[in-house]
Amino acid sequence: MKFISASLLVGTAAAFSPSIHCPHQTLSSTQLNARKPFISGNWKLNPQTKEEALTLGNEIAAAITEDSPDVDVALFVPYVFIESTMGVVGDKLSVGAEGVCPELKGAYTGAISTSMLKSIGVQWALAGHSERRVIYGETDDYINAQCRKLIEQGMSVMLCIGESLTEFEQDLAASVCAVQLKKGLKGISAEEMSRVAIAYEPVWAIGTGRVATPEIAQKVHAQCRAILAEMYDAETADNVRILYGGSVTPESVDELMSQPDIDGALVGGASLDSAKFGRIINFKPV
Ligand code: PEP
Repeated sequence: MKFISASLLVGTAAAFSPSIHCPHQTLSSTQLNARKPFISGNWKLNPQTKEEALTLGNEIAAAITEDSPDVDVALFVPYVFIESTMGVVGDKLSVGAEGVCPELKGAYTGAISTSMLKSIGVQWALAGHSERRVIYGETDDYINAQCRKLIEQGMSVMLCIGESLTEFEQDLAASVCAVQLKKGLKGISAEEMSRVAIAYEPVWAIGTGRVATPEIAQKVHAQCRAILAEMYDAETADNVRILYGGSVTPESVDELMSQPDIDGALVGGASLDSAKFGRIINFKPV
């Protein structure tokens, strides 16, 4: 993939503009920085039947046409629907897992391993979603073990990070993200970061209908990229895709995707509605 360092753009008009208007198309800042946009859906504990899952998967795949932007699309779905959903979406999008067990085998009742997922063709899995952190008590160490196991298996991980409402109100978003990034990615090399995406998901925005403003999200994304540059190097940080998650809708996606450091979206509620998620996939940079 062609790489244009963000630092090379400093001092040009492009560096200060979220989008560049070309005669034939509008490029988002993400495209300008050569990070391919990544739109993903998280179905959580939905839908309720295999039939509904297949209908939804089918409709979402149909929303990806030759007129769609050049984006990667992934759906993180319940384990039991993974293979059948793969069957209906074909090669239009990836179907990933909502989580993994960091162990490969043994006495872990109810767990699903990376090798099991890999054997059915899964490439991506989520780690660190706030619902796993809060409801299931998954710690940064456990999340790090999940990330490392996925990477070790040659798979890819979307590490979710984000602050609570209280932390946001105390202006602690960047510090919380720094801790979650450092602990979650411990032991993962700069080279392996090509198989890592970050989802910044402020907990106060998930499932609440309260989407972060593009300015707030952009600010934290830029801070996360600076943290990654400190942990790795500027080039690695420039190449990592950082997605925003938290009540993204067709109404909010265009402006969010026009921010220079927002490279995609992780979408919960709206990914259960094919018309809404289809519009999100077909975002239009402003
Ligand atoms: C999520 O579950 O990751 C999420 C962002 O949910 P929602 O879009 O419903 O806020």
